[in-house]
Amino acid sequence: EPVARIVAPESLVGDELLRGIGARVDESLRAGDTAARLGGDEFAILLEDVEDDASVAGVASRLLEVVSAPFALDGKDVSVQGSVGIALASDTVDAGISVEDLLGNADIAMYKAKGNGKGGFAFFASEMRSTVVERLELRAELKAAIESDALTVAYQPIVSIETGAITGIEALLRWNSPQRGNVSPATFIPIAEETGLIVPLGRWVLDRACRDAVALKRRYGFPADFVVSVNVSARQLQRPEIVDDVRAALETSGLEPESLTLEITESMMMKNMELAVARLTDLRELGVKIALDDFGTGYSSLNHIRLLPINMLKIDKSFISDIHDDHDQITLTTTIVELARALNLISIAEGIETPEQLAKLAELGCRYAQGYLFSPPIPLAALQALLDAHEAMPLAA
Ligand code: C2E
Ligand code: MG
Ligand code: MG
Repeated sequence: EPVARIVAPESLVGDELLRGIGARVDESLRAGDTAARLGGDEFAILLEDVEDDASVAGVASRLLEVVSAPFALDGKDVSVQGSVGIALASDTVDAGISVEDLLGNADIAMYKAKGNGKGGFAFFASEMRSTVVERLELRAELKAAIESDALTVAYQPIVSIETGAITGIEALLRWNSPQRGNVSPATFIPIAEETGLIVPLGRWVLDRACRDAVALKRRYGFPADFVVSVNVSARQLQRPEIVDDVRAALETSGLEPESLTLEITESMMMKNMELAVARLTDLRELGVKIALDDFGTGYSSLNHIRLLPINMLKIDKSFISDIHDDHDQITLTTTIVELARALNLISIAEGIETPEQLAKLAELGCRYAQGYLFSPPIPLAALQALLDAHEAMPLAA
């Protein structure tokens, strides 16, 4: 009876386990099939002359079962679970698919199987390749675009419903790609978030928008409450550095803090309330304003909104689109405007496209509006041209 047992290091157990799996895989295959270990914990199996999808699926299920049976390792039962990705050479239109592509397809399917949950298999579908490849390409192109300063900021006026005066602007990122044309922020912002590119990009937008706002305020003698709104994403808000970034943007541009609004979407705020409240409180201490963007599309309760250190609600454009004839939409919008008033928050309606919508919002007592009726988001120079003309002729009465 040994006094102390020397336990095999992790890697040795791992090696033994992999050998065991390899042996089981080998035993469960037919004579003409080939199995190889690709490295790590990945195996590749080539089945030749398969009858149909069902027979391949049968092999995959059998493999998964065989592999998941417990191994006796070092006196203990160890179980592992596999995932199988299947690619068929006949899938390809051009019959001459390369081994690399076939393995690559199987790999994509394997990740799909893994993502679906425990111990399953998945067939490769060409849509998987296109989605994965498309995202990877977009990611690389976005990175290059950011590095070469190819992104720009467009500005959309925010108008006082009562006076028709332009009281602020919202900064919106624009990416005009030589290969793809205009790529929507709805497409590239999530990618920028996933990759962390949103952090430098967000900092850049903040700087740009603050500088441009200072120039506009000087040129047109705008009052102190003229605001530039900048969208801030969840990933940016998670990092405490956002507070320093905002402070730095204000300091280098010389913009008064009360002239900067940060827009945060409702859904993102709800993901981590405590963190959001703490961070927004820090930001508010700088003197900037906070707007809850796309309001009405998230799931915030009245109680949550009461707790948030915000100044404005931006009513999502989905409420506005059929406000002139859809009674439910009118009721909801009325409720939001009243909620804003009760909580002492400023209400801004997004996506105003028709005079009817504007009239309805005015009737409901909404304070500010933004939408194609006044102007789409436009480059700074075009905004200046609009402001030059605007002095003589108010946009909306
Ligand atoms: P958002 O902040 O809610 O911006 C308003 C969106 O509504 C913009 O879409 C704008 O072009 C669009 N819009 C304005 N007026 C109208 C109208 O009358 N009708 C309709 N149908 N649409 C109108 P855009 O520019 O495509 O941006 C989409 C979203 O991408 C933004 O929604 C915002 O969440 C995000 N985004 C844009 N720029 C940035 C940025 O610099 N940083 C971050 N984090 N997000 C950004
Ligand atoms: Mg916004
Ligand atoms: Mg919005």
